Amino acid sequence: MHEFGVAAAVLEAVEARAAGRPVAALRLHVGALQRLDRDVFDQAFALIGGGGVADGAHVEVVEVAVEVRCRDCDHHTVADELVTACGSCGAHDLELVHGDDLVLESITVAGRVAGGQEVR
Ligand SMILES: [Zn+2]
Repeated sequence: MHEFGVAAAVLEAVEARAAGRPVAALRLHVGALQRLDRDVFDQAFALIGGGGVADGAHVEVVEVAVEVRCRDCDHHTVADELVTACGSCGAHDLELVHGDDLVLESITVAGRVAGGQEVR
């Protein structure tokens, strides 16, 4: 199931950043194209992460809209589902900028937010 794969990948990233410290909360950026079922994800994360550093952590999911760039006119089109034509010129030669994202934005360890870099 998709959500289990996502949960396993997220947990791996969380564990790498937590370095053994208990994680109170984590914040994810998830692209709309991931079609993540939040209930299934929560169950999967609790199951896979149970007993580990992220056991019981509060998970916040920020959904990222789909964004494509037109290779013809460089226009960026934003939508909540897959875009197949440029919103400006109608061309179909599009590059996906956002939408399939799966990013661990931050984790909170012992009340402190650790961002992209380690907080000491
Ligand atoms: Zn265009």
